[in-house]
Amino acid sequence: MYKNNDKQEILRLANELMPGGVNSPVRAFRSVNCQPVIVESAQGAHVTDIEGKTYIDYVCSYGPLIFGHTPDWLVEEITQAAAKGTTYGFTTPHEVELAEIIRDAYPACEMMRMVNSGTEATMSAIRVARAYTGRDKILKFEGCYHGHSDSLLVKSGSGLLTQGVPTSPGVLASLVAETLVCPYNDAAALETMLAAHQGEIACLIMEPVAGNMGVVVPAEGYLKRVRELCDKYGIVLIFDEVITGFRVDYHSAAGVWNVTPDMVCFGKIIGGGLPVGCYGGRRELMEMVSPVGPVYQGGTLSGNPLAMRAGIAALSRLRDNPAYYETLLANTSYLDEAITKLIKKHNIPAVTSRCRTMFCLFFTPQPVTCYADVMTCDLDMYRRFFEGMLASGVLLAPSQFEAWFPSLAHDKAILDETIAAVDNVFAML
Ligand SMILES: *Cc1c(COP(=O)(O)O)cnc(C)c1O
Repeated sequence: MYKNNDKQEILRLANELMPGGVNSPVRAFRSVNCQPVIVESAQGAHVTDIEGKTYIDYVCSYGPLIFGHTPDWLVEEITQAAAKGTTYGFTTPHEVELAEIIRDAYPACEMMRMVNSGTEATMSAIRVARAYTGRDKILKFEGCYHGHSDSLLVKSGSGLLTQGVPTSPGVLASLVAETLVCPYNDAAALETMLAAHQGEIACLIMEPVAGNMGVVVPAEGYLKRVRELCDKYGIVLIFDEVITGFRVDYHSAAGVWNVTPDMVCFGKIIGGGLPVGCYGGRRELMEMVSPVGPVYQGGTLSGNPLAMRAGIAALSRLRDNPAYYETLLANTSYLDEAITKLIKKHNIPAVTSRCRTMFCLFFTPQPVTCYADVMTCDLDMYRRFFEGMLASGVLLAPSQFEAWFPSLAHDKAILDETIAAVDNVFAML
């Protein structure tokens, strides 16, 4: 056992017990080459570490915390839920209620299954699409992340029409050979790929706004074009809205761009900060799933009552207060504009990238529209920026390739504090 919240002692033990001392690699802070933050507690827009230092938090657990940390009503809801039982292995009314809220917000999700993570959601949606179409291949975009299931840990090969290669040992080359990889935002490349694989591709899975290589905004008309091409080739279009769902708008990316996918995956926000995922889509597709259809998928803790009640509490608040999205939009663009001015003021080789309520700062002088652009970023400059911000009491993701997640708890005063810190840190870069 470690003593007295001694950080060095906790880190030593963590590294003895867990690979890299963490349960998810980014938390090890390797790409910024400094000691990880170990969190004690959090409230609103702030997290406090075990040494008692408080930071303005732009990680917000990588997306779920649209209200910020520990709003009273959520703590109350989870407490009440826990007192009635934490899991049963039977259906509860809460699962039905959350599903109805999601369906009403996202009409393309006619029928759905709750799971425990985004990874499980995308993996299961792909299984359904393969079963439905009787085809083996899937297509994803370079730089989009859909969790860590084997078929999706893949990057593009050397040429456009070559097969994907695994990004991790332990992933079978024979499996990844069924995953095609295309550049994001390039409709012509996609068309070439689809034409070359007619009748072979079960589904195309994409983040409608790329949020796992920083933030990359879909080009004008791009999502509509993807929809048309999927229709043309009989491909199931899966929107992975694990980040964008209930963040870019209450009706998610499908609502904003008025493009209807065949299937959708959610996670993060829909669990109100508890572990959850969800996949769904057209009835005809979802009726493939057991026990109605032959496609197996289950889960001991799926539809967990704590997660469902937290999700209902969060989504119903968002539904009943459209002004929340206006506030979040106004605040995110306020942050964007202020940082854009500071980039000019200090002549920093950087650009901001914002899509509605999603924001990111790239240390490259050029606009970023795809993964190849993202790869031009100066990672050492990000590292120095990150370190400076941390020292100024602002906690950013310890990686250039993550979005910033301002929440509803990030009010003007907190944003101004952040902007002042950016001004100081830019001056030292
Ligand atoms: C976070 C994320 C996932 C994976 O979700 P987990 O809950 O971490 O398994 C999948 N897709 C996208 C777009 C994500 O951002």
